[in-house]
Amino acid sequence: MSKHFSSSATLAVVCLLLLATTILGGHPADVLADDPTGVSPDLESAAYVPGRTYWGRNNYIEYIAGDLPIIISAPHGGTLRPKEIPDRTWGMDGGIDTNSQEYTRELARYLYLSTGHYPHVIINHLHRSKLDANRDIKEGAQGSWAAEQAWYEFHRFIDASKASVRTRWGKGLYLDLHTNGHPEKWLELGYSLSATDLSRSNQSLNSSTYKNQSSVRNLAYTTGAYFPELIRGWTSLGGHMQRQGYKTVPSPGYPSPGRGGYFPGGYNTFRHGSLTGGSIDGVQVEAHWASVQKDVRYEFSRSLGNSILRVMELYYGFKLRSLIHRPYKVYMPMVTKNRR
Ligand SMILES: [Zn+2]
Repeated sequence: MSKHFSSSATLAVVCLLLLATTILGGHPADVLADDPTGVSPDLESAAYVPGRTYWGRNNYIEYIAGDLPIIISAPHGGTLRPKEIPDRTWGMDGGIDTNSQEYTRELARYLYLSTGHYPHVIINHLHRSKLDANRDIKEGAQGSWAAEQAWYEFHRFIDASKASVRTRWGKGLYLDLHTNGHPEKWLELGYSLSATDLSRSNQSLNSSTYKNQSSVRNLAYTTGAYFPELIRGWTSLGGHMQRQGYKTVPSPGYPSPGRGGYFPGGYNTFRHGSLTGGSIDGVQVEAHWASVQKDVRYEFSRSLGNSILRVMELYYGFKLRSLIHRPYKVYMPMVTKNRR
């Protein structure tokens, strides 16, 4: 582990020791990434085992290590309300995303069955009243040390996943999975572009202005693809979902949300996508809650998985289904439960 010390070195070391002694499984140093207090451990040497589950302190944050260039997270589906974390008092602009963890696991399982390899999966088990893992630490954890620690673990597991993807593949895709209850009952894909941005013509959208503020910025510049096609054409994620029968925005059918309910992507998509640099793109996926209920969840997850695999093939050049010939064993995360 390499370190360099900033003026807040003392705090950094305290944080480091606290986390290092509480992470369960794996190598504690592996999750200490991107620490704003000045500690910069060497994540390239991370030793997570693909398919194996790692937990943060008190099992609030779960990480299933992967080896595919795909990272999926579920920040809003948690149900734990431990007494040690006071309820958040502001920024409570939404309830929990029911069934978002469930479809995250179903999607992970489908990707595994399709490729013989594992996506990286990061799940927050804390209720949104205790931690909002899709906000900055100030709003998300609101001063609770236990919530702050969980917040760091959530983002460090994503950072560790990104480091693994960069090492193995050079580039990849991060998807932050949510559910919504907007009356349009559509699937919303967020590229950090607002409804106003998306209301522009293809000609207008195809400019560096919008590429630069998009969470798929790297892809926009490296593929040479027509940007509006990448965002809402038939070969886009939304295009593939529309083809499989899902009302999706943006897509060829709904190139912009107009005045309809729409989430363009939150903190995680902004932070972990390529808007601020790097070769890992980000998309926020807001499934309508009705499309991920138990009886239809598999169908949705399969469609989303197929769409992601098509996008990986078309835009990243990764034929992930061709990996399936490698031997694989039964994938267990479907039976993972909250353990306290
Ligand atoms: Zn959400």
